[in-house]
Amino acid sequence: MGYIVYFNVVKSKEIVNSPYNVRLDSMADRVVRGKILDSKGEILAETQVAEDGSERRYYPYGDLYAHVIGYDSMGKAGLESTENFNLLTSHAFFLEQLVKTVKEEKNIGDNVITTLDTELQKAAYDALGYYNGAVVVMEANTGKILAMVSKPTFNPNSIKKDWDYLTSSANSELLNRATQGAYAPGSVFKIITALEYIRENNAYDNYGYHCTSEITHEDTTIHCARNYAHGDEDLKSAFANSCNAAFSDIGLSLNLTKYRATAEDLLFNSKMYSVLPYTQSKFQLDKKSETSEVMMTAMGQGKTQMSPYHMTLISAAIANGGVAMEPYFVDEIVNYTGTRVSKNYPSKYKRLMSTQESSQLKDYMVAVVEEGTGTALSGESYTVAGKTGTAEYSSDKEKSHSWFTGFSNVDNPELVVTVIVESADNSGMSAVSVAKKVLNAYYY
Ligand SMILES: [Zn+2]
Repeated sequence: MGYIVYFNVVKSKEIVNSPYNVRLDSMADRVVRGKILDSKGEILAETQVAEDGSERRYYPYGDLYAHVIGYDSMGKAGLESTENFNLLTSHAFFLEQLVKTVKEEKNIGDNVITTLDTELQKAAYDALGYYNGAVVVMEANTGKILAMVSKPTFNPNSIKKDWDYLTSSANSELLNRATQGAYAPGSVFKIITALEYIRENNAYDNYGYHCTSEITHEDTTIHCARNYAHGDEDLKSAFANSCNAAFSDIGLSLNLTKYRATAEDLLFNSKMYSVLPYTQSKFQLDKKSETSEVMMTAMGQGKTQMSPYHMTLISAAIANGGVAMEPYFVDEIVNYTGTRVSKNYPSKYKRLMSTQESSQLKDYMVAVVEEGTGTALSGESYTVAGKTGTAEYSSDKEKSHSWFTGFSNVDNPELVVTVIVESADNSGMSAVSVAKKVLNAYYY
């Protein structure tokens, strides 16, 4: 029963040296690569041209945006890769382009204005501190990604010098844990289990369970956190308390074929929309699974794996009446003088659940913050609905990752926030505290 975080080997070279990007690089002979900016005009990447014409790509924020913005030498990654074409295309005034071409001077590439918010990005980065992990902040009703942090990180300004270290490092600094991390979901997975229970039982409100701190079925015993006996619970309080015994009990009652179908409705075992490279999530129960596996899976352990990005999409759907918006990073493309070339607008990605189901889950997530494991987020000027999680990654019960997913301003959801803190263990560090710092930065 090891819950070791599993990461794909970083195949950076494969991703970034695609034939497409190699072909585009010839455009760099004629165009000075454009800038990448945050939503308020802060420069996140720019090309500095020296007197002798030599160019250097510079990232003023160093490692802060490493995984999202990426890098432009040793191949390409992040938005430097996905926006390569726009950055190397110039929509400068036609006559100016003509004159420069005649004088054999380079034209100036277009700027990419992102949806990113440096204040939130910094708040998330600082809140994680020295811990490894990831934070995703998305606008619920648009899909705009406002912040995406992954730690440990790297400095794209020195990527060439650091390349040998980074590509062989056991810390996987180049991996974007937000989209590529494959983690046991821990108790945030109770969202999916609760949804399945609601789907299978019209009278789900009548669910009752008496928690004595553990549940034993056949040879398997599952304990509640700190061996706490939650006593009498209904579905809502079991969810708010994150009661492992109740959720194992619920798991044993589920139709496993339908359970899997619900997980797959929610993008497990399938491709999902992502601008950046991601790791597909896994849900492995089927009708032949053993009961021990079912009990573990229902409360968030077992063989299930998912990324913080995926969890963000699920929370966004709950916030947004069941529909997840398509996540995006690029708001608009402008020429170097600021004239708009193109603009991206919010679009619906997928309905993950019915409106009724989303409002029921929202109600349970409100209870988590009002009376359950997420009360650290209550009592602020903003409201929050969410779910906490502790995912064990070793047979030593003290070793665990800390999860949080949820959204702010419950009646009219604004920010969806998902956090994972690796090896939070019993250090007092928690994903909830990281989420709170991010929300405070936004609201205060
Ligand atoms: Zn319990």
